[in-house]
Amino acid sequence: MALMQKTLIVNAHVISPGVDIENATVSIENGRISKVSKGEVSRKGAGTVVDAGGKYLMPGFIDVHTHGAATFDFCDADPQAIFEFAKAKLAEGVTTFLPTTLTVSHEELLASARNLKAYADAGMPYAKTPGIHLEGPFINVKCCGAQNPAFVRKPDIKEVREIARTYPVKLVSYAVETEGGAAFAAQCFKAGIVPSVGHTAAKMKDLAAAYKKGLRHMTHFCNQMTPLHHREIGMVGAGFLVEDLNTEVICDKIHLCPDMLRLVFTRRSLEHIQIITDSLRCSHCKDGYSFTMGGLEVRLENGEARLVKGGNLAGSTLWMGNGLKNVHEVTGIALKDLVRTTSWNQAIELGWGAELGKIEKGFAADLVIIDKKTWKPAAVFIDGEQRV
Ligand SMILES: [Zn+2]
Repeated sequence: MALMQKTLIVNAHVISPGVDIENATVSIENGRISKVSKGEVSRKGAGTVVDAGGKYLMPGFIDVHTHGAATFDFCDADPQAIFEFAKAKLAEGVTTFLPTTLTVSHEELLASARNLKAYADAGMPYAKTPGIHLEGPFINVKCCGAQNPAFVRKPDIKEVREIARTYPVKLVSYAVETEGGAAFAAQCFKAGIVPSVGHTAAKMKDLAAAYKKGLRHMTHFCNQMTPLHHREIGMVGAGFLVEDLNTEVICDKIHLCPDMLRLVFTRRSLEHIQIITDSLRCSHCKDGYSFTMGGLEVRLENGEARLVKGGNLAGSTLWMGNGLKNVHEVTGIALKDLVRTTSWNQAIELGWGAELGKIEKGFAADLVIIDKKTWKPAAVFIDGEQRV
């Protein structure tokens, strides 16, 4: 029988949904949080004691929309890419993420799924990757952003199922206005997948049809969707009108300007916002780094990743913790209220709300210690094991 492993994280400033406790001790037994206490507790029987030095201790971040990091992309043909990608995300404080595909060929999507399966079979040595986010290929060619229009196709649940046979698909971003768009939402639910409206020229009536079938998720709110107009409120209007849409938001202050972040976070319910990075391989890289994405050239300047041709934003270099910091600074909303947007909301929607996203008894000890000045992760734990 395995010996009971007990770890204590002491002197922590615990920030968890609805909770803000300074000088707290978090007890961890067998990978789960067993107790959160104010002040010191007896260290008797503790195998490991970690002093958080008064820094923030938060639930590990869950990034449901991220393509790559540290020069690696999930869609690279290289099987090592997902290992390096997961290692970089973990260093960022992300304990669970959905590797996100680009609009590429079916063969390339299958290859990415196979590489992810190999990472899972190796025991997921870095961040956890419970499933894939398919961003496209079922998008609207008019709203490609940095996605390659050459690979855009109509929603096809058979294609999704084939990928899911290799590795679970958790989320599919697609244009609801395409033929069969509303029915596709229902087909996704039947397959255990969350459908999301994204890269879309949809009108309110298109969203309403998919909403009727259960669709409740929006891919990078405001980016690559129909803007708000007073005679057709478009998807930006829908995001404000329909409160229970779980909206992803890229909080780098570039994809949405600070005033738009304020508008979103102060007017919408925090229960239905999910901070994402939408990071590309150039996150964790320096300015001047350039690369091709789905055959299109992208260059990193002043921390912004843009297509060389046309200048479209091509995803971000954001870290999850910095997204939280940006929103906290721009809105003044307390961290204990905002922190649900970096993991718990995602966990609830994807079915892990009883074990991920909170620092509470019974939850998995997936945790990040964040420096209060730099907002950089000082330590990251997965199932109670310190991995960074
Ligand atoms: Zn994306």
